Amino acid sequence: MKNGVVIVGSGHAGVQAAASLREEGYDGPVILVGDENELPYHKPPLSKTFIKDAQAKPQPLRGEAFYSGNSIDLRPGLWIDRIDAPSQRLEISGGGTLAFDRLILATGSRPRLLKLQGTELGGVVSLRSLADARLIRELSARTEDVVILGGGFIGLEIAATLRAAGCNVTVVEAVDRLLGRAVAPAIAAHVRQRLEAIGVRILTGTTVARLEGEAGRVSAAITSSGERLPAQMVIIGIGVVPNVELAQAASLATGNGICVDQQMQSSMREVLAVGDAASYRHWFTGGDVRLESVQNATDQARLAARTIVGHVEPYLAVPWFWSDIGDMKLQMVGLTQGGDNHVVLGEPAENKFSIYHFAGNRLLGIESVNRPADHMLGRKMLGAGFSPTPQTVAGGPEALKAALAAFQPKTPA
Ligand SMILES: Cc1cc2nc3c(=O)[nH]c(=O)nc-3n(C[C@H](O)[C@H](O)[C@H](O)COP(=O)(O)OP(=O)(O)OC[C@H]3O[C@@H](n4cnc5c(N)ncnc54)[C@H](O)[C@@H]3O)c2cc1C
Repeated sequence: MKNGVVIVGSGHAGVQAAASLREEGYDGPVILVGDENELPYHKPPLSKTFIKDAQAKPQPLRGEAFYSGNSIDLRPGLWIDRIDAPSQRLEISGGGTLAFDRLILATGSRPRLLKLQGTELGGVVSLRSLADARLIRELSARTEDVVILGGGFIGLEIAATLRAAGCNVTVVEAVDRLLGRAVAPAIAAHVRQRLEAIGVRILTGTTVARLEGEAGRVSAAITSSGERLPAQMVIIGIGVVPNVELAQAASLATGNGICVDQQMQSSMREVLAVGDAASYRHWFTGGDVRLESVQNATDQARLAARTIVGHVEPYLAVPWFWSDIGDMKLQMVGLTQGGDNHVVLGEPAENKFSIYHFAGNRLLGIESVNRPADHMLGRKMLGAGFSPTPQTVAGGPEALKAALAAFQPKTPA
């Protein structure tokens, strides 16, 4: 391979793909292109700590020396306009091309836009990048009232963080509960109750009809019921859409993401896709999914690197995710949609509990609040292909550990 591997997108997935290529012994050129003019950084702290602390520094994914030390040609500040698939070249915005033997698309996702009168006003923002986080941090230092549109993970993390920084925060969520279908209703209700206890106002079943401004800056959000919510900053957090346009224009198969097979290969063999941008058939549910998590980005990137060096292995990583909302560490493992019964361990009143979700006797996943040991055990159980019964779970963590230790995986006949 003379042109080597080019990776587009230097977020969690792109950086891991570059690192894994070297770990797997790949010795051709590795070029890592990203449009952001930053040393690649961790995204999760942006909504949890960075925006409330004027002194906080971005946390690099890898130190600068990592890239030069591993002959990874990091090219920040470059936007790729187009994939010329037949000639295996990328067109760089502003001129120039990059040839590749294999291409990894790690283009991530971007905040979903909201069609609403007033979104063009100053002070209306969303949070995806370090640049967004710097802007929110700067604005929040001179903002009393913040309105957040969307009661998903990021919106609620920001709500707790800016409340702790002294802002008056109102969350407006269109459906009748927080956190969509991402967690069980009991977890969503618990999160709501604790956020309200620290003074976050939450309006569910409510939308914002329009934003009002003064001198070009937002001054209020008007709800569907006509209430005027004062706001010097409005944060739109209504989810993300995958960055599939490069792939689409090159006629790669796309749906809710760039479609990839079990080895992370797109419909064109030379092109792989990983992370938030990739959609694939999940081994656990049998359905097509596109997951937005650091775990998914990192594990898929590792597998893509292994595919490039010649391994043929399916993607079998156990999905997991975490979110810090105020004094709650939420951890999820598995995919819990389709569950028909559950067992609760721990005490919601103590802000420490886990919900084990089952379909019949099959454990689908666990959602935990401040019970990290349950989460870690869940990762071990699902990773081993072990499903305890609801009765065993009800026996508590020691019973579960004993059952896992006694588990003998079935060996193929
Ligand atoms: C504020 C915040 C908090 C989060 N918290 C958590 C958490 O607590 N737990 C968790 O598991 N996950 C969390 N996530 C989600 C997690 O960060 C994402 O799932 C992860 O970043 C996905 O990695 P990725 O590499 O696929 O995409 P990204 O990290 O988004 O990286 C993609 C990069 O590609 C660039 N790019 C796109 N198109 C082009 C192009 N044509 N040319 C050049 N560059 C391009 C993008 O600008 C971006 O820099 C959080 C995300 C955010 C924004």
